[in-house]
Amino acid sequence: NQLKSSVWHPNTQMKEWNSFDKITKGKGMWLIDSKGNKMLDGVASMWCNVWGHSNPELVRAITNQSKKLQHSSMFNLTNEPAEKLAENLVNISPGMHKVFFSDNGSTAMEIAIKLALQYWKNIGEKKKTKIATIENGYHGDTFGAMSVGYVPEFFGKFKEQLFSTIQFPVPNKYRIPKGFTFSDYQNYCIENIEKKISKNNNIAAFIMESGAQVAGGVIIYPKGFQRKISQLCKKYDVLFVLDEIATGLGRLGSMIQYEEQKSTPDIVAYGKMLTGGYLTMAATMTNKKIYDSYLGEFNDWKHLFHGHTYTGNPIAAAVANENLKMYKTKSLIKKIQKTSKVFEKFYQEISEIDIVGDIRHKGMLMGIELVTNRKKKTPIHPKKSINKIFFEEGKKQGIYLRTLGNIVMLVPPLAISEKELNLLLNGVIRTIKAARLKVI
Ligand SMILES: *Cc1c(COP(=O)(O)O)cnc(C)c1O
Repeated sequence: NQLKSSVWHPNTQMKEWNSFDKITKGKGMWLIDSKGNKMLDGVASMWCNVWGHSNPELVRAITNQSKKLQHSSMFNLTNEPAEKLAENLVNISPGMHKVFFSDNGSTAMEIAIKLALQYWKNIGEKKKTKIATIENGYHGDTFGAMSVGYVPEFFGKFKEQLFSTIQFPVPNKYRIPKGFTFSDYQNYCIENIEKKISKNNNIAAFIMESGAQVAGGVIIYPKGFQRKISQLCKKYDVLFVLDEIATGLGRLGSMIQYEEQKSTPDIVAYGKMLTGGYLTMAATMTNKKIYDSYLGEFNDWKHLFHGHTYTGNPIAAAVANENLKMYKTKSLIKKIQKTSKVFEKFYQEISEIDIVGDIRHKGMLMGIELVTNRKKKTPIHPKKSINKIFFEEGKKQGIYLRTLGNIVMLVPPLAISEKELNLLLNGVIRTIKAARLKVI
């Protein structure tokens, strides 16, 4: 291994890499490396970029705010951009009442977990301590987030330290258990949830991704699935906690995914797209019922013991405000719904490639599942990481890709043009064909 760099990269077998391309510039949907090579950003720089790179409005919001106030604590104080952002978020999130700021999606979910668990303590209900979740969900890499979003391949090494949850299967149309139709299986999944949560009076909260599981393999929920869980939570007095970090703010084609799903969370978390992909910030929101349970005399000790150094950072909040404003002024959601149709034009051509088992798409998200045997649906499993093979082949086509297990993920910046999305999809088809012989 000849790596001279001191950097340890995320989710990476460092031995596989001799060097990493150094990105020195970003312009629109393109990343440019130190040698001047251009790559189309097919993963929106880890699913967070909205308007492309070096957007003048967003850059201006950052520079203007950074000249006034760079950081001032939310402990005992407040600041204008964070106040405004909280108001903006409450305005777009039906049923939500207060916002707790943190730095990233994982911490936003840690806060959601703490808020839900302490709620029951605050109202004097001691039994409700368990958390229910969906199998293969993903909510971040910190310990609480790993516990509620357990992906065995990622987190198996820490199993002993994670708290236990009650997990329910997700209806995945591509992998329906033997003997079921898809519709029967959906009913079975919901009935199974009702059976368990009606019997166990110790469930504090049901936590799930909103609209789709992304890191768990792009499993898009069938219509009604999330709404029915939301209804069961109300019926059996379980808090409903939604993670919109990857799927809200436009990724699946609507601003607020839980609205589209006709579901009503008690707590919801946003992250990734919040600042347009420019600075690190996340938000955990709650309804009035949760918030009110935290009010009391100081020595009731009902307040939330949680806080980060950079909570409510004014520069991040300022760019988030500009970003949310642009969603409106540039009718981004409408644009996404239109651009999203470009994916559909490619279904046929992609599914004709013999290692493609399934295509799953909604809004600005597409997962292409690769298999060695289409009949048996055997996931491809080469010795070398699929990601590295696809990254290298993608680079030759001028596109930046990052796969997840045997799923090729297409998660472009939300404002990508139809022309660039065509480029990306044609590049992906060439990449899969070129990588084919290296992965089977
Ligand atoms: C990315 C992600 C997180 C974690 O966010 P980080 O900012 O990476 O910590 C949580 N939930 C979902 C659904 C995500 O996709």
